[in-house]
Amino acid sequence: EEVAAVSFDGDEVVVQTKNKKLTLPFKDLVFDKCIGCPYPTPLLYDYLVGKPLPPQGTHEGLNERTKRIEALPPEERLEFWKSELERCIRCYACRNSCPLCVCKDFCSAESREPLWISHAHGIKEKWLWQVFHVLHVAGRCTGCGECERACPVGIPLLTIRHMANNVIKDLFDYEAGIKLGEKPPLLTYSVLEPKIEEEKW
Ligand code: SF4
Ligand code: SF4
Ligand code: SF4
Repeated sequence: EEVAAVSFDGDEVVVQTKNKKLTLPFKDLVFDKCIGCPYPTPLLYDYLVGKPLPPQGTHEGLNERTKRIEALPPEERLEFWKSELERCIRCYACRNSCPLCVCKDFCSAESREPLWISHAHGIKEKWLWQVFHVLHVAGRCTGCGECERACPVGIPLLTIRHMANNVIKDLFDYEAGIKLGEKPPLLTYSVLEPKIEEEKW
């Protein structure tokens, strides 16, 4: 049925067709990354369409996801990720959509010399590919979620990136893409990182 009008009513979206009126919760229609977005207004832009918006929260949508997984006992968490990653077809759409993956023909995931990851189609290789990508973008990932959006088999890739981003924030008090010119923490080096406390190891 053709949509005649769409309007907002508090936390709900009202869709009007010729014969029907549907009321849908806004949070069911948007990406998790949009729920509680701290930066609904771009921090840098040439031209802003519409009015600037205040922060909508502190990543509540993604925090809910990560909390659900972190609450699982280790064996169940392992099973969860196994069942998700088993679907991976190693298409590399996650990498190709990532604005930070700029290595073009030199991505180490596809290198044969040296062969960092076997091209075998096993769970270990699929897993390793995710570890690879997450570590390569750690401290630079802005949580844009394009990797997850591009994944043809619906693996919740942003959950892993959000977890890594939280670790970076806790350890280095750093969020990627916020301050122009600030160096990502993994591109800097301090003999003693204040929150890592190597001397106490
Ligand atoms: S969320 Fe991070 S890893 Fe995924 S596409 Fe965006 S920058 Fe890349
Ligand atoms: S996964 Fe790593 S090596 Fe491959 S394009 Fe991304 S940053 Fe480069
Ligand atoms: S986009 Fe999805 S299926 Fe493709 S390599 Fe990445 S995780 Fe695997």
